[in-house]
Amino acid sequence: MATRAAEQCEEARRTAARLVAEGARNVAMTWVDNAGITRVKAIPAQRLADAVTRGVGAAPVFDVFTSDDTITASDHLGGPDGDLRLFPDLGRLTTLAGQPGWAWAPADRYEQLGAPHPACQRLFARRMAERATAAGLEVRMGFETEWVVTRVPERRPSAAPEAYEELDYPCAGPAYGMTRIVELSDYLRDVTEALALQDIDVLQLHPEYAPGQFEVSTAPGDPVRAADDAVLVRETVRAVSARHGLRASFAPSVVAGQVGNGCHLHLGLYRDGRSLHRAPDAAWGLAPDATAFLGGVLNTLPALLALGCPSPASYLRLQPSHWAGIYQCWGVENREAALRLITGAPDDPDGGHAEVKPFDAAANPYLAVGGVLAAGLHGIDTAARLPAPQSGDPGHLGVRERARRGIVRLPATLTEAADRLEKSAPLREAMGEVLHGAVLAVRRAEEAHFADHGPEEIAAATRWRW
Ligand code: GLU
Ligand code: MG
Repeated sequence: MATRAAEQCEEARRTAARLVAEGARNVAMTWVDNAGITRVKAIPAQRLADAVTRGVGAAPVFDVFTSDDTITASDHLGGPDGDLRLFPDLGRLTTLAGQPGWAWAPADRYEQLGAPHPACQRLFARRMAERATAAGLEVRMGFETEWVVTRVPERRPSAAPEAYEELDYPCAGPAYGMTRIVELSDYLRDVTEALALQDIDVLQLHPEYAPGQFEVSTAPGDPVRAADDAVLVRETVRAVSARHGLRASFAPSVVAGQVGNGCHLHLGLYRDGRSLHRAPDAAWGLAPDATAFLGGVLNTLPALLALGCPSPASYLRLQPSHWAGIYQCWGVENREAALRLITGAPDDPDGGHAEVKPFDAAANPYLAVGGVLAAGLHGIDTAARLPAPQSGDPGHLGVRERARRGIVRLPATLTEAADRLEKSAPLREAMGEVLHGAVLAVRRAEEAHFADHGPEEIAAATRWRW
């Protein structure tokens, strides 16, 4: 143990020297709280070896912060006492291309005596990834990042209420139109260049449906890495936007009533290096374990919404016929099903995977991947099944026809989703009492905070939070 610490310290020293030589002055160490906000402690690059061996102090109270920075409490957490240690993951240390002079590393949180902090979301995601490995399963995950870009206003009259903030889009081209790429080609090149310099493997970049909206998707891989990538991609887009005099909103509902920003989670299942989405002679190519895993995810979706759609603003986005997947059903390449099976090209051995549509970027990505892994593994343990797939938009069916097909709507409010999370035995067990309780406390506080707000006010108050 002592030798390992000494080796780590030596590696950190070498890394720190390299960072300083490359011009990095500071390392931003991030973790994401239960309200989905990326919080940070920065250290001078030459202190990295210290941080790797001894950690950096951070208060446990961040676990009960809400998205508007008010502080609530759970049975286990809250109040001014105590301290945790943040340990930067050297394996993900990245020199930031969009912020010269800065490097970044995601952090794991431990108690002062060295035990894992029971509410550390990144350690939760890692525990669930290890559970999958122990079950002989490889799960490759990746997030799509959607954002809306606007010009930074020169000056907002201080008297103007936020709800009436006028958004000034730097592009006018139509949804998915090449015009938008022409209008913003320098900006978008800088986004992809910064991501490439940071070893993020971009799959696609394209304009999305809403005004000023774009999307970047990244290659699937290890679940914790996927959550780290989600943080890095978002902060990179934000940084490059700022350097172009622009501002990026990742909020679920940028303008109430319009199509919002999703943060869909893609997942592919493998055993012994072979895709479980390519079983010969099986319906849709799904091997029995893939069916059970996806069945577990589908069954748990109402509770998972409290992790993947954590803000009252999330429920402004979750509207029928907005490609947000608000019905608890699955479908083959169906963009209105909450769980979309993507078959891919038949000759692509890695082509098949699934997409969890309702999640958005207010979600803590570590909770999202950990929750989906827990739900899927519970599906395997209980031999869960998939009902018949749905085609077409369930929102276009009458209430009776939906009932006949057994399609129910996912929670339409945060309260409903939090109630489902509270009662979900598999998620409670997987998360542990302390994390589960802290997440619920934050959800209840968010509900109470926005109880008297109308949709425009909620969208305006949360537009620039994530
Ligand atoms: N922007 C849509 C959403 O809120 C998704 C569009 C797409 O299918 O990528 O989820
Ligand atoms: Mg999209």
